[in-house]
Amino acid sequence: MSPQPLPSGQDEYRILREADLRDYLAQLPAIARQLGGAPTTWSIGEVGDGNLNLVFIVRGRDGSIAVKQALPYVRLVGESWPLPLSRSHFERLALTHQARLAPGLVPAVLHHDETLALIAMQFLEPHIIMRKGLVAGTTYPRFVDDITTFLARTLFFSSDLAVPAAEKKEGIAAFAGNHALCKITEDLIFTDPYRVAEQNRWTSSWLDATAARFREDLDLHVAVSRLKLKFMASPEALIHGDLHTGSIMVTERETRVIDPEFAFYGPMGFDIGAVIANLLMAYLASAGHERSPGERQAFEEWVLGTVESVWTEFACKFVELWRTEGKGDAYPVTLFAGAEGAARLEAERQAYMAQLFQDTVGFAAAKIIRRILGLAHNIDFELIEDPKRRAVCEARSLRLARGMMVDAAKFPTIGSITKTAQALRDWQPDFAG
Ligand code: ADP
Ligand code: MG
Repeated sequence: MSPQPLPSGQDEYRILREADLRDYLAQLPAIARQLGGAPTTWSIGEVGDGNLNLVFIVRGRDGSIAVKQALPYVRLVGESWPLPLSRSHFERLALTHQARLAPGLVPAVLHHDETLALIAMQFLEPHIIMRKGLVAGTTYPRFVDDITTFLARTLFFSSDLAVPAAEKKEGIAAFAGNHALCKITEDLIFTDPYRVAEQNRWTSSWLDATAARFREDLDLHVAVSRLKLKFMASPEALIHGDLHTGSIMVTERETRVIDPEFAFYGPMGFDIGAVIANLLMAYLASAGHERSPGERQAFEEWVLGTVESVWTEFACKFVELWRTEGKGDAYPVTLFAGAEGAARLEAERQAYMAQLFQDTVGFAAAKIIRRILGLAHNIDFELIEDPKRRAVCEARSLRLARGMMVDAAKFPTIGSITKTAQALRDWQPDFAG
């Protein structure tokens, strides 16, 4: 018997409207059961505030789900910038990997459809995007423990320290096709902010001279090119690839990491640096949101303490995993027998962490610079209405980031970074150049 042809259009990608989504979900028994009630009673709204995709919230009588559909182009820019639908495949693959490696810290995948580039997942409620909470001056007591568990476990357990070489290389291969998303990072983070590029923007005219200086600064160009090469050619672990505070949803008691469509095997410091960069920007943007001097001081202290704890607790958890679960093909135990061998291996772990810290500092700097001089900006700064006031906060952040990228040796510890950030909190830039 020949296979039943699908109704026309059902085997092809199409952008779903709300009514199409209702019909589509109604024929998925597990999803329909979870939502409950008649499909006609489900409420469906598109809430995507991201740069790339559609996100629908579907509410039924008994439950709610989130449905994400990739568009064949960049949402922020439009059809003139095509982007492969396959990113939905990689996002789903990353979400399921992360759910296994760091249980409870990502939304559960309920259904996926490769043809439609669609993922149905657990609806996070009452979680909000962490960046919004930070702009409002909210602190999150669970955040450090959760994000460092997420980082330590997803990075360690996908690395050569934890898994056999064959498995690691299969993993690299499984994500190698996500190169179009990597290319976005390579261009928008590591290249465009340092040259004339049509999509760049910054708070003009205040930052015009700074932006021009960054385009002429060869020390910076060398430093960012080293980071770019590291990003392109260091498949250390399965990284999230876009771990900013807009990809983290929180309540005071829970943390969930969303949106891993940029995932691939890359350098670990890129993810850790993303978290640290976004906290540093939340800190230096805070002065722009205060209505009276010192109003947000407790929040700002919490953010700086959080920057420090993110690194120290991550490092602690990562090294402990290496000590107890270091079953990969790297560092064979037989080469480190006896007390002397164990001591050398421990010293090597500390050296590894020192290098990872340097990578983290550099990547964090790159993430800050791109948010101020490149295409995609963030609400930490954008919601500071007065442009001069915003530019002051941005200039402080650029000064911190340039130092971190070019003079990494001046930042041997996380404390040296928070100290410099604190010193810049009230620094007054001279916009004349
Ligand atoms: P993009 O890839 O386009 O950036 P995101 O995955 O970041 O899309 O999702 C866009 C927005 O949709 C998020 O900022 C968040 O507000 C909302 N969202 C995404 N996933 C969920 C979820 N599982 N539960 C609740 N809201 C979600
Ligand atoms: Mg997003």
